[in-house]
Amino acid sequence: MNLLDWVHVRTALDWNRRLMQQPPGALCRRCGSKNPFALVLKRRPVICYRCRARQRGLSGVELQDLGGRRSPLPRVPIDGNMHRVLTYLQLSWRRLGVPPRSPAAVAFDLLALVLVNEVWREDQDDPV
Ligand SMILES: [Zn+2]
Repeated sequence: MNLLDWVHVRTALDWNRRLMQQPPGALCRRCGSKNPFALVLKRRPVICYRCRARQRGLSGVELQDLGGRRSPLPRVPIDGNMHRVLTYLQLSWRRLGVPPRSPAAVAFDLLALVLVNEVWREDQDDPV
């Protein structure tokens, strides 16, 4: 199994686990997002991270560290919900023992940013 297959299988398992942590048919009461990585856990009524941030007077845009915290690259401003997905995907290289800020971690995160951003514009509820 290659790395991308492993990421895909692992993500599908985690996607289902996150779904099971929400009530059946859960979606954000404000924007309708159904992405289980973007829904705040144990929050009723269900709300996504972006809408919760906006509720608190924030913009809903967050900064992504490519390759982990203290990235050698500038932080990238992205949608708060997409940030949750990309942060989840960082677990892939972390689980493989890739050091934060290493070229491999930065390269993985850049690829994830490009791929998720492309799919995100088409379907925010199924970005992985
Ligand atoms: Zn929302």
